[in-house]
Amino acid sequence: MLPAVLLSALAYATCGACGAEGRAYQVYAAEARAASGPDHPEEAYLFAADAHERLATIAGERPGVVQPFRVGTSGADRPIWALRLCDPATPPRGSLLIFANIHALEWVPTEVAVAFALDFASAPIAGVEIVLIPSLNVDGRALVEDDLRAGRNVYRRGNAARVDLNRDFAVNRESRAIWKALIPSRYVVSPAPLSQPESRALDTLAQAERFDAAVSLHAFGGFFYSPWAGRWERPTDHAEFGRLGILMQNAMVNHPYRPRQLSRWGFFFRGLGMELDHLYASYGTYTFLVETTRSGVETLADLDSSFRIYNPRDPRSHATEGVRYLRALATEVASGRVQARGAP
Ligand SMILES: [Zn+2]
Repeated sequence: MLPAVLLSALAYATCGACGAEGRAYQVYAAEARAASGPDHPEEAYLFAADAHERLATIAGERPGVVQPFRVGTSGADRPIWALRLCDPATPPRGSLLIFANIHALEWVPTEVAVAFALDFASAPIAGVEIVLIPSLNVDGRALVEDDLRAGRNVYRRGNAARVDLNRDFAVNRESRAIWKALIPSRYVVSPAPLSQPESRALDTLAQAERFDAAVSLHAFGGFFYSPWAGRWERPTDHAEFGRLGILMQNAMVNHPYRPRQLSRWGFFFRGLGMELDHLYASYGTYTFLVETTRSGVETLADLDSSFRIYNPRDPRSHATEGVRYLRALATEVASGRVQARGAP
C-alpha cells in the first residue's frame, strides 16, 4: 500500500485522475471569493477571485479533464495555481505549456487563459496534455487589484519585490550589441538568474515536464514572437517557429497577429533573460511570447491610465481570438508533429 502522501501526489501528476489538489483548489477558490467580494472596477475583467471561481467550477464539473495543482509559491506567499488539461481517453502525443500575466498590468493574457480553459473543458482536444497557469505573477496582479479598487494609477510590471520576472531567466542575459551603451534601460536584467520564486517555479515545472511547445501570454503588440530575444542571430529552428507562428496567425479571424523573431522587433532591441529564450535553449521547447491586443488606448485620456494602456475596455474579443490561436497550436501539438528537441 502506498503512503497517502504519495498517492495524492500521483493523483495530480497523472492525466485523468482527480486528487487532493483538486479539493484544495475548491477551498482556495471559495476563500478567495469570500475575501474579494463581488464588485470591482474594470467589470469586464476577471479579478483573481473571479478567475479562480470559474476555473474551480470547471475543475469540479470535469475532474478528468481539468486538474488543478500548485506549481509554486510567490514571494508574498500566495499559491501559484495551474491546471492540467487533457482528454483522458487518449494518450498524449505532445505537451503544451500556456502561462499568462508574468507582467503585473497585463491582464488580457489571463482572460485568454481562462477562456481557453473553459473552451477546452467543454471540447477537449484529444492527444495533447496542457499545463495552463492563468497568472504567474500573482503578487503583482494583487497589487494592481488593490490599485484599481483604490482608484490609484500605478505603473507595475514586476512582482512584490519589484523585479521584472521576464528579465530573470538564465539564458541570454548578456548582450554585446553596441546599442547597449546608448540605451542601457533596454538591457536591464534581474540581480541574478532565477532569483525570484515565480520564475523558479516556472523553470522547475518546465524542467520536469519538457514541454514540446509553450506560449507566454503578454500585452500589447499583436505579435507571435519567437526566440531569440537576446540575440540577433536566427535560432536553429527558425523555420519551425515560422511555421507554427503562421499556423496561429491563420487561426485568427480579426486583425491577426504576425510572427516575428523578438530581437528583430527593432534593430536596437534585445530582451535579456527572457522566458522564451530560456525555455527554448534549456529544454528545447518551442516557445512563443504572444503580445495580445494593440493596446487599450482609444482616447488621449487613456494614455494617462497605466491599466488602460495595456488592457482594452472589453477584453472579450481578444479572449475569443486567443482561444482560436491556442486551439490551433494545441491541435498541432496533439498531432505529434511538434517535438521538443535537445538544447539547440
Ligand atoms: Zn509583458
